[in-house]
Parts: sequence; structure tokens; C-alpha cells
Amino acid sequence: MKLVRYLSGGEAYYGAVVGDGVRRITGDPFGKYTVAPTNQHISQVKLLPPVIPSKIVGIALNYRSHLAGRPEPTRVEAFLKGPNALGGPEDFIVLPKDAGRVDAEGELVAVIGRPCRNITKREDVWDYLMGFTCGNDVSAREWQLGKDQDMQWWRAKSSDTFAPIGPWIVTEFDPSNAHIMTRINGQVVQNGTTQDFIFTVPEIIMTLSRYMTLEPGDLVFTGTPGTTPALNPGDEIEVEIPNIGVLRNTVKAAE
Ligand code: MG
Repeated sequence: MKLVRYLSGGEAYYGAVVGDGVRRITGDPFGKYTVAPTNQHISQVKLLPPVIPSKIVGIALNYRSHLAGRPEPTRVEAFLKGPNALGGPEDFIVLPKDAGRVDAEGELVAVIGRPCRNITKREDVWDYLMGFTCGNDVSAREWQLGKDQDMQWWRAKSSDTFAPIGPWIVTEFDPSNAHIMTRINGQVVQNGTTQDFIFTVPEIIMTLSRYMTLEPGDLVFTGTPGTTPALNPGDEIEVEIPNIGVLRNTVKAAE
């Protein structure tokens, strides 16, 4: 199943994508719901971020190919991105005026489906996930790591539009061997596989849930492979994960 949120006639709905159609969902997308038998063509609706999270967690340094000489972390290194940073598959990424270099980070994103607290068995983790989507952990490097870096990553990771996700959530997906690719203006700039993960999805969720209750719709960005590319106004940036889809956003400068 491919789950979306979309705007039609000025109203937001949850829906299921079937072929090139969207079928409206009634009920609770995290619980009991029904899918309408009729389609609206996907080109006739605006796709929204597929869920509205109460929080967004990111994992730092989770691909060996991204370490660049840094020591491999011995525990899950998590950080928060504000829900204000959320964006959808048809939204712009806006570069703040004084940010300097801003990078894209193509990532596999786990979406929580049920309240999740203190999970201790690896095999239980799957019961708490709604599914997976593509994400871009947009990062203002100078605020994060430069000589003028902030004490916390608040604006480096949480400026508005810095967490686009989508285009939909795939409910049946194996994150243990997923290919992930990022393109800028059609050129491949990141190319990785989750076999390169330092911590697997169950290890990440178990660790987070020991300290924070994860709520339905919460997002866990699982890290980025390789070297990350800088974004410039006008760029079209795509994050593709086979069996999920392509998240495509356009970059613009803040007005
Ligand atoms: Mg990241």
C-alpha cells in the first residue's frame, strides 16, 4: 500500500495511491480505515507531506561511507529536527539568506504507526512502523560544523523546509537492503545501500524508544550515505529509493 496526504478542492485527505489514481481514505490512517473504490487522477491533486509528525528524529553518521575518516559511532547518535521543517513532495526547499553552504542528505525515513515506548525485542519493532518514505535531511553546514557553528543544530537542521518527505509511505518495505540515490538536476550525487548502515532500523527504534515515546506519524531519518552535495537556487533535487519512489523538490533562495 502507498499512503499519501493530498489536497483536493481545498481540503486535505489521506489517500491510497493505486496506479496513477488516488483513492480517499476515511477513518484513522493509523488504525481502522476504508479506501474508496474510485480514483482521482494523481495529477489533479496536490500531494502533501504524507503524515504530520509530532517530532522528527535524525540519525547522524549511520553509513560507513559517510564517516570520511571520523570514528565509527559506538552508539546511536540522534538529533531532533523541528516539525516546522516538514515539507511535502511538491514543496520548495528554501535556502535561508545568511546560511552559507546548505547540503542535501538523501535518506530512508521510517514512519511510526503506533505509540512506541521501550521496545526491547528487535522483532517487535515492525509492529510499530507504518512504513517507509524518502526524505531529505537538508543541513546548513556552516551553522552545523563551520567556524561560526551554533551550540545546537537548531537552525542547521530545523530551518523551515529542511525536512521534505514523500512522495508517499510504502507499508510493505524491507529496509535491510535498500538502494538510495540522490540526483541534482539529473546527475547522481549520492549512491548508497542500507547494507552500509552502522545501526539497523530495529536498533535505532529500540534505542530511541528507551528515552522518548514515539507517536504515530513521527519520522526517523536514518542517515545519509557518502558525500553530501551543496544546494543552489533553481536546483531540482531528487531522492530515489527503489520500491518506494522519488522525492523531488526544487530549491529557491529566501526572499
Ligand atoms: Mg542526515
